[in-house]
Amino acid sequence: MTTESNADAPAELLDRARRDYKELTARGLKLDLTRGKPAPEQLDLSEGLLSLPGDRHHAPDGTDVRNYGGLRGLPELREIFSDVLQVPADRLLAAGNSSLELMHDCLVHAFLSVLPGAETRWADQERIAFLCPVPGYDRHFALTERFGIEMIPVPMDDSGPDMDVVERLVAEDPAVKGIWCVPKYSNPNGVVYGDETIARLARMTTAAPDFRIFWDNAYAAHHLTDEPVEIADLSAACAESGNPDRPFVFGSTSKITFAGAGVGFFGSSTANVDWLTANSSKRSIGPDKVNQLRHLLFLRDAEGLRIHMERQRSLLQPKFDTVQRILEAELGGTGLAEWTTPTGGYFVTLEVGEGCAKEVVRRAAEAGIVLTPAGATHPYGDDPRDATIRIAPSFPSLEELEKAMLGLTTCVRLVGYEKRHG
Ligand code: PLP
Repeated sequence: MTTESNADAPAELLDRARRDYKELTARGLKLDLTRGKPAPEQLDLSEGLLSLPGDRHHAPDGTDVRNYGGLRGLPELREIFSDVLQVPADRLLAAGNSSLELMHDCLVHAFLSVLPGAETRWADQERIAFLCPVPGYDRHFALTERFGIEMIPVPMDDSGPDMDVVERLVAEDPAVKGIWCVPKYSNPNGVVYGDETIARLARMTTAAPDFRIFWDNAYAAHHLTDEPVEIADLSAACAESGNPDRPFVFGSTSKITFAGAGVGFFGSSTANVDWLTANSSKRSIGPDKVNQLRHLLFLRDAEGLRIHMERQRSLLQPKFDTVQRILEAELGGTGLAEWTTPTGGYFVTLEVGEGCAKEVVRRAAEAGIVLTPAGATHPYGDDPRDATIRIAPSFPSLEELEKAMLGLTTCVRLVGYEKRHG
């Protein structure tokens, strides 16, 4: 975070912000910083997928990928993602095109069938609650809300959720069945979970026997610097602490290859993988193995994945640099905002003054710049400080991004100075 202050900004700063905003609205912009989608150039990097698997029909183990079956997915593809997701390939499933749907299915199955280690289904319990580190991913919160799961916000610091709070809540309340975690380059604040946080998550005592960590490692391979971050191995730590069934690990190639036609992964203990596979077998006779073979032939191996992600980075890094440059130039030293400088992932979090986020988003929309709704980073869309704004720089072109960021910072100045001097 960058923090600087200029508490005595003169009223002419407000005048200038008003003039700049007037000019901004006159420009008739139409820009979108809402969703963390890959840009077309990023999708082009995986164009080769479209002509694969060619006339090849068989996976290396002889499976005819055109046919039914193979519920666990192609072993060789699971092998490629085993290291990066920190789950041995024999306990990693390659599934459909989305990890979010795997998270959805895990919740549904936990309601309908007894989880390993549990005595009753979630549907038979009066109350189910999840811990939600904030700021977090709006679609996680939408899922838990949809199933009537109570969401309990937990503050985050630079190394993950506040573990004193987490340990207390899971120990005292048997209705707390899970926690949402994006452990690497978190959505939206780019936080990387520290070793001690991961160790505490693995060994903490939970009142619920079927407590699960929904470990959404969506950005496991999505580095933005020369120093790829490694996190501690949660699955191994849980096993060592006698809690092998605690983690549900998720990942996907949505932001590696095609966001709409990638491959989702689920990894866990043997008991959990068998539980999910047994439940999924009622829902599907097998995943799209043609797409899995296509991915296997395209990425080849872990080194192929690494090289591909370097190409992704070469397109993304300039955009993240642009965001930092403009935030620093326009807001540095004003005391109006703080922001994250992520070393990977897809987002930058901008913290504006308390009570300002909704107004900044509204003013930006009026000027033709669409931002993720303020509050989306918190359960029930309620950011109690009304201060967090999520910036997603990946999709717009560099030129559009620059315009959008200049517009956004104008709105931050306008709303901030209006509050200070209005
Ligand atoms: N998890 C996180 C943290 C994300 O940010 C996203 C997409 O933005 C997803 C999951 C979606 O993943 P998928 O496309 O595999 O469903």
